[in-house]
Amino acid sequence: MSATILEGAPIAQKIKGELKAQILKLQDTLPPKLVAILAGDNPGSKFYAKSQQKDCEELGIGYELKQVPDDFSQAEMVCVIDELNNDGSVTGIILLVPVPEHLDARTLQAAIDPIKDVDGVHPANLGRVVQADRTLAPCTAQAAVAMVEAAGVELEGAEVVMVGHSEIVGKPTALLLLEPLATVTVCHIGTKDTAAHTREADIVIVATGVPGLVKPDWIKPGALVVDVGINRVKGEDGKTKIVGDVAPGAEEVAGILTPVPGGVGAVTAAMLMKNTVAAATMQAGA
Ligand code: NAD
Repeated sequence: MSATILEGAPIAQKIKGELKAQILKLQDTLPPKLVAILAGDNPGSKFYAKSQQKDCEELGIGYELKQVPDDFSQAEMVCVIDELNNDGSVTGIILLVPVPEHLDARTLQAAIDPIKDVDGVHPANLGRVVQADRTLAPCTAQAAVAMVEAAGVELEGAEVVMVGHSEIVGKPTALLLLEPLATVTVCHIGTKDTAAHTREADIVIVATGVPGLVKPDWIKPGALVVDVGINRVKGEDGKTKIVGDVAPGAEEVAGILTPVPGGVGAVTAAMLMKNTVAAATMQAGA
């Protein structure tokens, strides 16, 4: 068996395409503008900022990268966030992570006005996920769910195993998949035998940051496997490459598999645009 490879790009394009009319409409009321805050100059964050800017430009959304010195204190960071919260022309705020060690990202994210929290990481927006409200849910969780939906697998009654229980991926993804009445099991670092769970699953979603954790013999033949992992590893040729949390060979067992790179990542970026438009729309109507 060779799995169908479910690419993220067409799904991302569809999501972005659906936003264009809304963005046009907002030009007359409150044009969306996203501000990304970067403390220091982490190269990974700069890379993400560049691709956010590109997505915003493609859609006609304003974008600003607000770079602050890496020795800014927590209080100074909160001031920056407050200023953006109070600026009526800024409709979306995202804190680029990781932040320098002396800063507490979670507290900073909680300082963002929830209606501008396009990353979906404010406790209020995480809480709404419990109520099945995806409006400003974490982008990666929305992307993982969008991949599952795009695969067209029946969710009611499906056995889903979510490997990973982080606040921005594992937990919200598991909660969102309970809504269509899937039976969701969450495995994590404390799970005694994760493979025993994944082998029984119709759908496996993996977000652990452990390259190649899910081996081909962990997968039920024909299952849908959504690989959220993005890991930089050194290849045999000494060059750095991006791999997922699912090991090579999974495509011989799975029915549908999302690739890395080229899978969930592209959809996550599109979800940030979707959240940015949703936040502006809410503020325009407020
Ligand atoms: P995290 O470090 O916050 O959480 C990792 C989770 O994996 C934890 O819940 C932990 O319990 C679990 N885990 C770790 N080792 C395990 C093991 N051996 N067995 C079972 N569970 C184990 O990570 P995160 O922020 O959720 O990110 C996870 C991965 O997803 C990373 O590779 C990250 O780069 C990637 N990611 C991708 C996107 C995207 O758009 N595709 C977005 C965010 C994160």
